[in-house]
Amino acid sequence: MQQDKILVTRSSMPALEEYIDEIRDIWDSHRLTNMGPKHKKFQAELLKYLGVANIELLTNGHMALELSMQALNLQGEVITTPFTFASTTHAIVRNGLEPVFCDINKQDFTIDVTKIEELITDRTCAIVPVHVYGNICNIEEIERIAQKYELKVIYDAAHTFGETYKGKGIGSFGDVSCFSFHATKVFHSIEGGAACYKDVEFGANLYKLKNFGIRNAEIVDGIGANAKMNEFCAAMGLCNLRHIDEDIAKRKKVVEHYRSRLEGIEGVQLNPVQENVESNYAYFPIVFDADIYGTTRDEVFEALAKVGIGARKYFYPLTNTFDCFHGEYNANLTPNALRIAKQVLTLPLYGDLPFEVVDKICDVILNLRKR
Ligand SMILES: *Cc1c(COP(=O)(O)O)cnc(C)c1O
Repeated sequence: MQQDKILVTRSSMPALEEYIDEIRDIWDSHRLTNMGPKHKKFQAELLKYLGVANIELLTNGHMALELSMQALNLQGEVITTPFTFASTTHAIVRNGLEPVFCDINKQDFTIDVTKIEELITDRTCAIVPVHVYGNICNIEEIERIAQKYELKVIYDAAHTFGETYKGKGIGSFGDVSCFSFHATKVFHSIEGGAACYKDVEFGANLYKLKNFGIRNAEIVDGIGANAKMNEFCAAMGLCNLRHIDEDIAKRKKVVEHYRSRLEGIEGVQLNPVQENVESNYAYFPIVFDADIYGTTRDEVFEALAKVGIGARKYFYPLTNTFDCFHGEYNANLTPNALRIAKQVLTLPLYGDLPFEVVDKICDVILNLRKR
């Protein structure tokens, strides 16, 4: 029998019986969507778990970002990074806003805060930083810059479910922090997302925009979308929330095993361990410096693929080089991002990933070392 391919991630699943129990009352009530009881319960439980003041549920992380920007009535330029998933940049452009790409720092791949101020113009309205791989951006510095120039801050927190910074829920920073509950993420509701925010007026606006901009039965005063989380997704979220701590603890063990094999190897950079951060162990990125290691990222990728290991080139290509933008942006202006995107590989990581597979992956990687 051929061995199943190992993919970069595998969705966590509650026991089937647990999910069936959770959806039983949906059958009884015939209430499938439009902010029903599961939606309300999931929202309340997330508020507690994430340690945030306010939270709105959405169909996915992308709509959380896109509608949050719309709800803030932003206009003009938005400072962001290209080393992210398509969603971040698309949410900006789809709002008619102009992304201005700031470089990332080489240590943790988040926005280089020393380069933000030089990009600010009188048209800048917001900063959209990304907590890449669950690495927390320099929150204090972003906060200082945002206050000085009166800019909004919308964090793409898709990778940081359940993390804390200095003991505070990561969703409580910025004007808004957006989470993704996509099936491939640390925590999921099949598809889903949330926006955590401070200002209740913003919340009312966002709530309206996720439901077509409908204020009440006779007044539609917003050009909204449909981004309501349905009851089945909320039910999956409720189930997964019961197991998330256990799941993160298992991920931590897998990460520690990877580290024990790959730490301190010359030409290989691992994800940093950040101070004051309670990590969720979302990803295991590894950066290969071919000049030192003797082997390129692409060669490692191919070698792993040959033995059925599906590592991913997250994040490659950079969003500022996407075909859909027709060369509008110059990726040479974000040189760290450009270099890291060519050197980084994200290795398989999920709670139930067997140590033997981790060892196999590490063996392949270490055997490719040429210097
Ligand atoms: C997954 C992801 C998103 C989008 O979330 P969806 O729930 O898939 O819409 C946005 N930003 C980043 C960085 C992501 O990884």
